[in-house]
Amino acid sequence: MKEQMLVLAKMQAYDDKIGDKLAQKEFLPKQLESLEQAVVEAKNNVTAIHTLIEEIQVKQKAKDLEIQANKDLIAKYAVQLNNIKTNKEYKALNKEIEALNVKNSEIETDILNFMEEINIRKNELKEAQKDQKDAETNLKSQEAELKKMIGALDTDIQHLKDKRNELTKKLPVTLTRRYIVLLKNKNRKAVVFNIKGACSGCGYQIRPQILLELDDEKKLHYCENCSRILINKPSGLKID
Ligand SMILES: [Zn+2]
Repeated sequence: MKEQMLVLAKMQAYDDKIGDKLAQKEFLPKQLESLEQAVVEAKNNVTAIHTLIEEIQVKQKAKDLEIQANKDLIAKYAVQLNNIKTNKEYKALNKEIEALNVKNSEIETDILNFMEEINIRKNELKEAQKDQKDAETNLKSQEAELKKMIGALDTDIQHLKDKRNELTKKLPVTLTRRYIVLLKNKNRKAVVFNIKGACSGCGYQIRPQILLELDDEKKLHYCENCSRILINKPSGLKID
């Protein structure tokens, strides 16, 4: 029985290691979250600048149309000027034409400002697109790195499982089955130890009679509270 207890303790030690590796494996992809976020932000930035440029282009187009409408009006008035009889009417129409010319030169200034702003935004867009590409490259290389690390962990886990499974050959099949069920249902802890009279799995105070029997190591015990396999911690418990 003592031999079986040592085997069980070793199996649990392997499963503890496997548990650590599984936790690492689960945590690794979380490290990518900030890089994924950086890609999303860079993309949003590119889209925002695109939208801004389009908005300015729409405004510029409206101004272009306004200038053209004014020019058409000026041409129309110029024709009318030829047919005007009185000096007063002539002056009035001439003033209209002048006002439209002034307005058009103002609009031209607006258009130049828009064009300048578009140029500035286009430079910003180039920068933003570069940032996006960098963020994507960064994510990709980290993903590749991560894949490698996960692959290495999988190899380690398989190796540990093989060693644990090798140990099960020294146990009756029913006990191995019980171990596996406990491992699955009891938070990866199938074997617990008597730590100063309490179960190391759930903290339950072990009855004095059971404590004596545990010291005897003649019979396999289960925690009366959490049902895990309960043993005294074997001395010299070592796994490679
Ligand atoms: Zn317990």
